[in-house]
Amino acid sequence: MTVNQYLTTLQHQIEQKYQGQTEFIQATAEFLPTIAPYLAEHPEIIEHDLLSLLIIPERLIQFRVPWQDDEGKWHANHGYRVQYNSTLGPYKGGIRFHPSVNESIMKFLAFEQIFKNALTSLPIGGGKGGSDFDPKGKSDAEIMRFCQSFMTELQKYIGPDTDVPAGDIGVGHREIGYLFGQYKRLNSFQAGVLTGKPVDFWGSLARKEATGYGLVYFVKHLLADQEEVLENKRVVVSGSGNVAIYAIEKAQALGALVLTCSDSSGYIYDEKGIDLETVKKIKEEQRGRISAYLEVHPEATYVANESVWSLSAPYEIALPCATQNEITQHLAQDMIKAGVKIVAEGANMPSDLEAIQAYQQNNVIYCPGKAANAGGVAVSALEMAQNSQRLAWSFSEVDQKLNEIMLNIYETCQQTACEYAEKNNLVAGANIAGFAKVAQGMLSQGLV
Ligand code: GLU
Repeated sequence: MTVNQYLTTLQHQIEQKYQGQTEFIQATAEFLPTIAPYLAEHPEIIEHDLLSLLIIPERLIQFRVPWQDDEGKWHANHGYRVQYNSTLGPYKGGIRFHPSVNESIMKFLAFEQIFKNALTSLPIGGGKGGSDFDPKGKSDAEIMRFCQSFMTELQKYIGPDTDVPAGDIGVGHREIGYLFGQYKRLNSFQAGVLTGKPVDFWGSLARKEATGYGLVYFVKHLLADQEEVLENKRVVVSGSGNVAIYAIEKAQALGALVLTCSDSSGYIYDEKGIDLETVKKIKEEQRGRISAYLEVHPEATYVANESVWSLSAPYEIALPCATQNEITQHLAQDMIKAGVKIVAEGANMPSDLEAIQAYQQNNVIYCPGKAANAGGVAVSALEMAQNSQRLAWSFSEVDQKLNEIMLNIYETCQQTACEYAEKNNLVAGANIAGFAKVAQGMLSQGLV
């Protein structure tokens, strides 16, 4: 069997076996073809059928999360934790609270996380968790009761050396605080059981900023390779959550003009550059809608019910920081028409397969999330290290390490791309470099 036959057969089996798990199938369809040149050089991987093993999570936990609203009415949500791969360390990955969460989304996120975590070169395996609970419109007390109920079940499966969750969409400092408190009540104070903790109780400085800053560091290193800088570049950002906010902050600090941000209801276009203080106030303090930006900046434009990626104003750099599959082929064509040169993903899998193809056919440099947004989980691993040492590093120490890690990820992806595919094929570079570490580890551990 040739390498391509092996990979096509495997993808076909995945599609048959996991019918309906569209996001998971999409993640494997993006991944498998790109690692072909590595498999051609490593016949032992096909001999041992390692990939059939790898695509099955080591453990997939599902549970019921009952909770009571402020009126005393009971509700139940689905809770998940996918412990996908522990070759390189304890399972590591965030928890997402969003109504779209299901087994397929949990598995695609955890699958991506395996290779992302490997790329950081830090000792962490891959996992992900979450619930279809919708935090939107819930009171603080409801959020607390939900988090307590979620952790009452989850605590059976996690620990500082086994599985270390963190935040993701819908889970920030507030939720991590409630989850941490409940873990502590049921067990004991274990600083390293969660990351993304508030700085007051063993959180790391610069963790909040890490995904967004890391994303911009990645782009900075890519640009430096082309003897270019971020200064005066026009940047379009989607989202207005934690990743988007700190990507905007760092891009602006490096002199870029950031034109947009968005939420699920629409987007803001501000040709003078997004006023980040206003966005922070709306999103971090008021938990409001991005349309409120106009109350402070009536001269900006708000476009309701449309994707920011349909924007026709010219720009060079796109930073999708909202959610999966926000960019379809049609929107990718709009981006290309607007002149985009680099797409760097702050979100996980924001570009669908056809969008990626469109970038590649039009010489747009595509930086996949598993490389470009790895700064968040990398600083989570640094938080674990600080917790073990019972020390807290300074902001600049963590930030400097983050920058070095992103440089290392960029160089690894680029070198691997040059070796196995072609320069700037960073998706092949990221997939092969991440996979190689995990696969070699699995082989030396006896394929477990
Ligand atoms: N949820 C983030 C991600 O997608 C961070 C995970 C973590 O810090 O463990 O990588």
